[in-house]
Amino acid sequence: MSLAIISPGRDASVWVENFKKLAPEVEIQVYPEINEPEKVKAVALWNHPKGILSDFKNLKLICSMGAGVDHILSDTTIAEDIPITRIVDDKLTISMTNYVVMSVLNYHRQIQRYQEDQKNRIWDMSNPEVPVTVGILGVGELGGDIADKLINLRFNVIGFGNSAKENLSYEYYFGDEIQKFLSKINILVCMLPLTPETEGILNLEFFKKCQKGTYLINVARGKHLIEEDLLKALDEGYISGAMLDVFQKEPLPVEHPFWERNEITITPHIASVTNPKAAAPQIIENYHLINKSQPFINQINRKRGY
Ligand code: NDP
Repeated sequence: MSLAIISPGRDASVWVENFKKLAPEVEIQVYPEINEPEKVKAVALWNHPKGILSDFKNLKLICSMGAGVDHILSDTTIAEDIPITRIVDDKLTISMTNYVVMSVLNYHRQIQRYQEDQKNRIWDMSNPEVPVTVGILGVGELGGDIADKLINLRFNVIGFGNSAKENLSYEYYFGDEIQKFLSKINILVCMLPLTPETEGILNLEFFKKCQKGTYLINVARGKHLIEEDLLKALDEGYISGAMLDVFQKEPLPVEHPFWERNEITITPHIASVTNPKAAAPQIIENYHLINKSQPFINQINRKRGY
């Protein structure tokens, strides 16, 4: 019985080291040198080559090496009955929250304007009030923490999700109430999982429902955003600017129009990166749960897609 790591293009050695520290008895095979596929009972995946899991005839568990599972579910060759888990971890959450809080504060305190002034040696003390109500699309593990931290900083926060929720400390909408949600906010944070329902959700029609001049922060997945629609929404004033960490194509191609736009700030998918030391214990714990009656930790719902 062994655990396989398949994360092409990434250094797997730090994962091996952490898995070995936690469970020296577990045999680990690392792609592309998986010489005994019939022994593989569990896989830890990040952007695996599609179709490869059909080599593992005794596979019992699939573990995402990150919070998202869209990279796994987009592989239609994977058998429907194999459980899939993902990473939920404090370090990941804190890092994401810090990124979004930084983006909200930069917008709120107009840092970009002062950076421009500095370049031109301008001392302009005008400091107009920027109205800020932050709307968070997706208040799960990550979005929920962002909401709590922004509320601690006295921002007005409104959440939007898929299902009814009770006892939240902020206003919350779900289902067909998107128009109500969008009409109340000035900053829109996309913290949704990528599913067939959410792919392309950030499109021109959606932006037209926002208050004019809404600021967009997309830290979820590039495929949530129709990129040419953001350019149109910026030109037409529906959106005033954007902080983007994720893109349809990564790395963002050098000829992409986003690079040229002053209103867009780009970071290279670094908002929150899985820390192997923090994430390894839940993968090992799940590995040990194979063939036990206990449920896996952080198992996703295949039907829902997250
Ligand atoms: P969770 O599964 O904990 O939360 C997802 C939230 O989205 C839930 O509140 C859910 O609503 C809501 N949701 C799902 N589908 C819809 C829909 N169709 N309409 C409205 N709301 C919906 O996920 P996490 O918070 O842990 O992570 C979210 C995503 O963030 C990940 O899937 C990943 O893609 C991305 N991510 C990006 C990173 C980066 O570095 N840029 C790093 C880590 C994650 P409900 O609660 O009602 O079900």
